Amino acid sequence: MIYLDAAATAPPRREVLEAMWPYLTTGFGNPSSSHSVGESAAVALEAARETTAGVLGCRPGEIIFTSGGTEADNLAVKGLALAGLDRLGNGAGDRAGTAAPFSAGNGTAAHIVSTAVEHPAVQESLDYLQRRHGFRVTLLPVDGTGRVDPGEAAAALSPETVLCSVMHANNEVGTVQPVQEIAAACRAAGVPFHIDAVQAGGWLNLDVSLLGVDALSLSGHKLGTPKGIGVLYLRGAPALEPVMHGGGQERGRRSGTENVAGAVGMATALALAAAERDDAARHAEALRNRLIDTVLGEVPGALLTGHRTERLPGHASFCFPGTSGEAVLLELERSGVLCSSGSACAAGSDEPSAVLTAMGVDRETAQTAVRFTFTSALREDEVDRAAHAVAAAVAAVGGLAVVRPGG
Ligand code: PLP
Repeated sequence: MIYLDAAATAPPRREVLEAMWPYLTTGFGNPSSSHSVGESAAVALEAARETTAGVLGCRPGEIIFTSGGTEADNLAVKGLALAGLDRLGNGAGDRAGTAAPFSAGNGTAAHIVSTAVEHPAVQESLDYLQRRHGFRVTLLPVDGTGRVDPGEAAAALSPETVLCSVMHANNEVGTVQPVQEIAAACRAAGVPFHIDAVQAGGWLNLDVSLLGVDALSLSGHKLGTPKGIGVLYLRGAPALEPVMHGGGQERGRRSGTENVAGAVGMATALALAAAERDDAARHAEALRNRLIDTVLGEVPGALLTGHRTERLPGHASFCFPGTSGEAVLLELERSGVLCSSGSACAAGSDEPSAVLTAMGVDRETAQTAVRFTFTSALREDEVDRAAHAVAAAVAAVGGLAVVRPGG
């Protein structure tokens, strides 16, 4: 089997599981308990927070552990936007839960800037804020490669803007956004800037000062932890409306008994990714380019989706006009290649990808999307086998003719 679906979930890493094991067994305590078993769990949790902060170049107190990327995105988007209403002279606490539009004193609704290609964790949070709380949302368009124009982002910011949220790298097409330029525009306008770095986490530099961001979401299971752990970085101590209410853990920002083993796994996975980043990215980029070139060479009419170079190292995505993406997937699975059509979340949906349609891909072609994502453990011979399997699968599904080099 060749596993090319790491963007859905990456294989757990042995080092991560080994680091977690003590906190799943003898060190099982609740960090809030005052006895020794609880205290040693609290020590492990704080050590994990320090390691995570070290990778992100921030202070440990700026790290909030969550249950995953979805929760980190929800907390960033809803928490910062609702708290931002106070900046505009509205009481979030007074009105949360009502559908009454907030207004910025001059009758203009509080405003959020984001993009047309966000993951549903951000997209649906924005929809909720718009529907239930009357926020005005500007979704920036993207070009044919899936990139936002930082000039358009800057122009969209207004005195009523309480948040800008842009994904670092796209899950479906791998395109990396110009987040540093957008961060500079947000800083100049005094607007908090959040990035969803869930897909970027294993590949790109996460130094928050370098990136210039105020908030950043990560998910462990994209980095080699088991599912159920994520991180939200928040610069300084900004006002934040919690999403989870309860016992006041994580300094009152995310209630719920902490997932100590998960936090230890997350810290271990992030430290490994940071240490390996340059070599891993170089290796994966070479494999990605080989996969792209072979598929484009062997499957005439195949379209690469996303940016050719400003894309994640372990990400290659295509449309195969004249086929069905789902049928190609099934055919590939028969030959031992596991991948997905666009995003794992949208699998099984009849709707074409909103990301691809935002990039200008027509609905019919968008239904033919297939995504190949991998870790740096992939080998060159596996790439070649997968690429040839793709060509054969597309031909079998009745799409385009296969052209073998020299034949
Ligand atoms: N954001 C992006 C860009 C993602 O790709 C994903 C998952 O695929 C998420 C958020 C959600 O993360 P999780 O699966 O940890 O909830």
